[in-house]
Amino acid sequence: MPAVEAGIDNQDISEKALHVVQELQDAGFQAYLVGGCVRDLIIGTKPKDFDIATDATPEQVKKAFGRNARIIGRRFKIVHVRFGYEVLEVATFRADASDRDGVSSHEMSEGDQGQLLRDNVYGSIEEDVVRRDFTANSLYYDSVNQEILDFMGGIEDIRAKKLVSIGEPEQRFTEDPVRMLRVIRFAAKLGFDMEPEAMQMIENQGKLLSHVSSARLFEEVLKLFHGGAAYDTYLLLRKYGLFKYLFPFTDTMVVDGVEGMPERALQNTDRRVREGKPVIPAFLFACMMWDPVKADAQVLMDDGASESHAWRVAMNDALRDQNQYVAVPRRLADIILDIWNIHFRLIKRNPRMVKASLNNRRFRAAYDFLLLRTLVHEVDEEISEWWTRVQEVDADERDEMIAEVG
Ligand code: ATP
Ligand code: MG
Repeated sequence: MPAVEAGIDNQDISEKALHVVQELQDAGFQAYLVGGCVRDLIIGTKPKDFDIATDATPEQVKKAFGRNARIIGRRFKIVHVRFGYEVLEVATFRADASDRDGVSSHEMSEGDQGQLLRDNVYGSIEEDVVRRDFTANSLYYDSVNQEILDFMGGIEDIRAKKLVSIGEPEQRFTEDPVRMLRVIRFAAKLGFDMEPEAMQMIENQGKLLSHVSSARLFEEVLKLFHGGAAYDTYLLLRKYGLFKYLFPFTDTMVVDGVEGMPERALQNTDRRVREGKPVIPAFLFACMMWDPVKADAQVLMDDGASESHAWRVAMNDALRDQNQYVAVPRRLADIILDIWNIHFRLIKRNPRMVKASLNNRRFRAAYDFLLLRTLVHEVDEEISEWWTRVQEVDADERDEMIAEVG
């Protein structure tokens, strides 16, 4: 289909992405924009990133872009082509070996980023299309000739806001349970629906997610909750019983109809994304894990532990337990601990620590965390208002404020 008919204008596409497609085609290869970016262009929203599919091998792509290109991945290689801050992912068409030799899901392994890897082999574009998840994600756009290749009726499904599985949903969800999370994500973010039987399958088969590595689930959690529709995504994850495979300890503490810490945090994250403000994984996790930390600390204090000991143990326990489900990289865990600890310092308002706290690199996140706890009535409003004001006043007034709490 011609691009204009689908409402695609090359003006809306990153120049770098157009350049990569052009260069590959000039070198005699097939090259297309593919997947989510084509879907988003047709919907009329701004694509997050541009992925490119080609029949050139990674080595050939590398040769075409020289020092801008880096081959990544071990078992299945893709190429990152970098221009300044922009990175384009160029993948060679591949065939899915599972159809051919009956590779079962147990024999699949995961790559460095925890992505799914079978005994992938390079293939034709016709083979590449059938390994994709949904028809809406299976379009190839030739930006040079301004033509869309639609093998699966994807354009029609996008217009109808339908998520249609390529192949039997049951089989596709079983071979890669992360696709169930992708359904929820696209439903929340794009308002796409999937047929009721497939949704029923998701509701029944959530436990398949326990076979997915925690590293891959970490990547997926970031996509679920940093995409601008975190709160709606969360409601759907709860509705379909998937949330408990991501945050089991948080899940048991959720009270339906009550907007607690997780709900407020996700609404806050959506607002920040909408306003173009940065969001950090550590803040998200600090909020999501807070209720379990609090409950655990309370148990320890009831058993006679000192307050500081109880919190320290509860925080570390929560991180360790959560890590079994969604991997929390060590660096991230350290920042989460910082956010919690510094927010405690803010609550104490020790006059000698105020200036140091304001200058701490985690102050902003700890302050935001304090505001959320205020919102759910766990911290006195007076305290968070004090911290709001102390940031706004001049040096003299600040000294006065600090003296007053001394
Ligand atoms: P987003 O807007 O979040 O980037 P996306 O559809 O582009 O959505 P990506 O994770 O960037 O998602 O994947 C790019 C493409 O790769 C998808 O459009 C789809 O065609 C294919 N794909 C990704 N993950 C899977 C999967 N688990 N199973 C099958 N195909 C997948
Ligand atoms: Mg994408």
